[in-house]
Amino acid sequence: MIDPNGFLMIEPRERPRGLLLDSMARKVTALLRGAQADRFFMGYHECICGARSDSYDWHVTIAARKRRTNSLAIHYVACHRNEIAPEQLREIEAFTRELEPTAQEHNALIVVEKSPYH
Ligand SMILES: [Zn+2]
Repeated sequence: MIDPNGFLMIEPRERPRGLLLDSMARKVTALLRGAQADRFFMGYHECICGARSDSYDWHVTIAARKRRTNSLAIHYVACHRNEIAPEQLREIEAFTRELEPTAQEHNALIVVEKSPYH
């Protein structure tokens, strides 16, 4: 599942500390809404917190380069931001489009009242 050439193909090791629905989460949402699904069924992936991906690999284009990702990308940036590599966060910061993620897209199974990041 971990793919260095993938986009947000990570396996978080810690349970979420909170839910961040900010500019970064909106940028990944906009990217994912323009993604194309593989036609092959891959089986779902389950995050350490219990959130599940759909059954497909998704392809996105970032800086003219095709990258593989999965439907948990929005979940990772919203719920496991502290486990995303700094270079991936810098990539996301450079995106210009933003769309508000739905609850199904961020897939947060726990919601804390106050974000520990603030
Ligand atoms: Zn998770």
